[in-house]
Amino acid sequence: METASFDTQKLKNPDISGTEYQNGDQKGFWNVREYVLFRDNHECQHCHGKKKDPVLNVHHIESRKTGGNSPSNLITLCKTCHNEYHKKIKSGKIKGPEDFKLPKRTQPYRDAAFMGIMRWTLLERLKQANPDLEVVNTYGYLTKNKRIELGLVKEHYNDAYCIA
Ligand SMILES: [Zn+2]
Ligand SMILES: [Zn+2]
Repeated sequence: METASFDTQKLKNPDISGTEYQNGDQKGFWNVREYVLFRDNHECQHCHGKKKDPVLNVHHIESRKTGGNSPSNLITLCKTCHNEYHKKIKSGKIKGPEDFKLPKRTQPYRDAAFMGIMRWTLLERLKQANPDLEVVNTYGYLTKNKRIELGLVKEHYNDAYCIA
């Protein structure tokens, strides 16, 4: 059962994903990425949708090296604004996020109530109702990662296949 877009436990305890980082796969970052998109309401934080670009990127405010992969260093930009930002930085037209109407630090976590208790209740009930089956919990970021890895388009049946 896929219950949520991202794993809030892993956001609070980044160590849990430590082995994933060590294994060289990006699942930990995919989880943070889904969280950042949710936090920013799937909206470009520069043009707020004015450029009508449906492709959203997650941008590192400070470089990955110095700022890291924590949600506070990440922000949602549409591809158009993202390209524009990096072009302007590269050509020296702007110096940093302050010159591009980007918040230096993003708003703090607002995930407290997200999916709350219900998903665990639902999972428990599914387990109880299906004692012969193995009922496990999974997340949207894993489904999406798998789907893109397999080169499948976004369809409910493809997601279902990836979840299973
Ligand atoms: Zn934009
Ligand atoms: Zn960027």
